[in-house]
Amino acid sequence: MGLLSLGTPLDWHESKKHNEHVRDNGITQLINIFRQHYNRDNDKFLWGDEVEYMLIDLDKQSHTAKLAIDKDYVLDDLNDEAKSLPKAQENNVLFHPEYGRYMIEATPAKPYDGGKLEDYVYVEENMIKRRDLSTDELPPHIKPLTITAFPRMGCGNFTSPPAKPIGPASQSLFLPDEIINRHARFPTLTANIRKRKGHKVAMNLPMYPDKRTKLLDDSIPVNRQLFKSDVEPHIGASKPGHVYMDSMGFGMGSSCLQITMQCENINQARYLYDTLVPVAPILLSLTGAAPIFKGFLVDQDVRWNVICGAVDDRTFIEKAQEPYPNYHLFGGLDINEKENLQVNNHSVNAYGDLQDLYTKDGKPIQTIPKSRYGSVDNYLGDHKFDTSYFKDSFNDLNAPINSKVYKRLLNDKSGQFDKHLANHFAHLFIRDPLVIFSERIDQDNNLSNDHFENLQSTNWQTLRFKPPALYESDADGKVDFTNKPGWRVEFRPMEVQITDFENAAFSSFITLLSRAILKFKPNFYIPLSKVELNMTLAHKVDSVLNDKFWFKSMDSWNIDYHDFTGYDFSWFDRFLMEGNDVLEDGPVYLKGYASSASLAAMNGKTNGAATQAHSGQANGSVAASAKGCEGKTVEDVNDVDDFGIDQRYTLHEIINGDGKFPGLISLIIKLIATELVPESCKHCPDSNCARTLIRLKYYLMLISKRASGEIPTAAHWMRHKVLNNPAYQQDSKVTEEINYELMESVDNLTQMKDKELVTEFFGEVISDYLLRNKAPI
Ligand code: ADP
Ligand code: MG
Ligand code: MG
Ligand code: MG
Repeated sequence: MGLLSLGTPLDWHESKKHNEHVRDNGITQLINIFRQHYNRDNDKFLWGDEVEYMLIDLDKQSHTAKLAIDKDYVLDDLNDEAKSLPKAQENNVLFHPEYGRYMIEATPAKPYDGGKLEDYVYVEENMIKRRDLSTDELPPHIKPLTITAFPRMGCGNFTSPPAKPIGPASQSLFLPDEIINRHARFPTLTANIRKRKGHKVAMNLPMYPDKRTKLLDDSIPVNRQLFKSDVEPHIGASKPGHVYMDSMGFGMGSSCLQITMQCENINQARYLYDTLVPVAPILLSLTGAAPIFKGFLVDQDVRWNVICGAVDDRTFIEKAQEPYPNYHLFGGLDINEKENLQVNNHSVNAYGDLQDLYTKDGKPIQTIPKSRYGSVDNYLGDHKFDTSYFKDSFNDLNAPINSKVYKRLLNDKSGQFDKHLANHFAHLFIRDPLVIFSERIDQDNNLSNDHFENLQSTNWQTLRFKPPALYESDADGKVDFTNKPGWRVEFRPMEVQITDFENAAFSSFITLLSRAILKFKPNFYIPLSKVELNMTLAHKVDSVLNDKFWFKSMDSWNIDYHDFTGYDFSWFDRFLMEGNDVLEDGPVYLKGYASSASLAAMNGKTNGAATQAHSGQANGSVAASAKGCEGKTVEDVNDVDDFGIDQRYTLHEIINGDGKFPGLISLIIKLIATELVPESCKHCPDSNCARTLIRLKYYLMLISKRASGEIPTAAHWMRHKVLNNPAYQQDSKVTEEINYELMESVDNLTQMKDKELVTEFFGEVISDYLLRNKAPI
């Protein structure tokens, strides 16, 4: 969550009068940010993660697991100087509010140093501290668990204490307003989305079809007459065979794992942002952890499209949809009804504007293909970086822009906004502000960036390009940038994982990959329409095992694959164990890497990860084998695009390499070997460094084995926990009892208490290590 402005949030019908004011001033603030920071250079590579927790009331007596909605005082305490703040500070931990009253977000208080090997493991220590500190504040039966979606969210009595779904903010048939953070911003956000849209949000997830599944969401009340909107599921909002959800909390009340990284300068940040765009759906698939919604097993593995729907504030006309009977095409937009309703057959211009249709403040009404929560719609372009791989044709999505903002940025006399940057921000600024605080309408545009952040932080995409804030300059008109965040890139698609070990592993993986990207400068650009297809694939059940994702053809990455030979998992062993580095033909090793003379001898080992995983699944817990790898080869005509530049790969190939080309893990291992281990060391110098490297090796192994299908994703594991529960009736329903047992298993896993469970989840190799080394130190 961004900054929590204090004050009085305006109701939509009041706030909409200020929309254009916020946009105009937001763009002025952006221009001022660029003036202040555009030429900033040589910032350190800093990074930080965000983990979101749910407070779960695990009642051993009644065998129930519920969302605790009365423990949000812990957040106040953890931020209170007189209470637990000092302890949090001592431990370099910071706690933040989130959408759900049962949620806590926690980050390191100070970002980590990307140049320090230890910090890639310290992240786990920091995460352990966060869990410990919040646990200390809570009664023993309340557990801060890192689950992506609470399985019985919206099922009758699912909160502790109980609350009824009769709240005016969401008007939900399932979620009480008491699940929403008490800060006025959050209920207002919920209500304003609904009021702008003119109807409630509606998410429909396909039910997981089992033998006795009724393919009918029987939890929808038939006759409630509390709000006018109660009728919506019966007039088009709910789809047969789907689980119907009608409130922001189903999406924004789920948890995720995000990583923010600071780049040297804006141009490096643009290249990193773009290069991570095609990685986003890959990591969504790999971190899949949400197979259950509203008490039903669903036919998908991730939360993403639920949040897209949960904050989708588009009106019927913007969605180009027929309104429900007696509902307004224009929702809560401020329009002159008489004039507008007389105009028919509106054509659409190049910006996506419906011609002749404007809100009262003169903003064109547009058709908008996607929700404001969604995957990236525009690359930023890398032509000012060393690479220059980007081509205009890669931005091939229909992403309408605010033409007024576009022209203003492009014509700004600073000349700092090229057409791709102007396009990026002009797309974000097609949206309306969702919450405006009455006290914050007039701002000093030289010092405040609130209006800019209002739009920026409510465009929730897979990546966020984070410009710096505005700072007061000294008497000479200069700003000291020391310790002031610079140009940052945030990676946002990942689902939160159950254990700190996994969350640390994925955090380090993304950060190391980003550093490897900046060092080796691969070309990962593919058209965004293909990234979009990948987002759809990433939702599918076990997409890791069954699907092939579009990715830049490995021979077009613009790196020499020979340079990565030897940088596989065996590098760790060679570097760690002196004496183990000399093969029979006596090659010279440098930092564990074989000289070219030894390549032949290395070959057997080089692609070990890929070969081993392809050969089948060591752990029986994953039912299907890595099907995507069987039969068809990547040369298959249907899997290559017209130009042969993009291909479809299994996640296994992308992560672990395809036998010839390195996968993402090799890039990372070479980065560690050549950038992060102490410069002068041919071998691991001491036991601290060894411990760190071993932990890192297991982080990478987790990702490697998940990608190969050797061990299950959290979603796969959870789904099978339900399917194999004796109380399960093969009807796709996750009852209170099943939910309790699942949450209890999650809690046990979190604490790594139960050997059988840990092995079932992590496989033999990783669990052997983890049970001996629960924490990194
Ligand atoms: P948001 O919710 O807006 O994404 P948060 O403050 O919750 O922002 O989290 C931002 C993350 O960025 C935290 O992990 C924090 O440690 C990290 N961070 C802070 N400053 C920097 C910086 N200069 N460079 C990179 N990361 C940073
Ligand atoms: Mg958050
Ligand atoms: Mg945050
Ligand atoms: Mg964030």
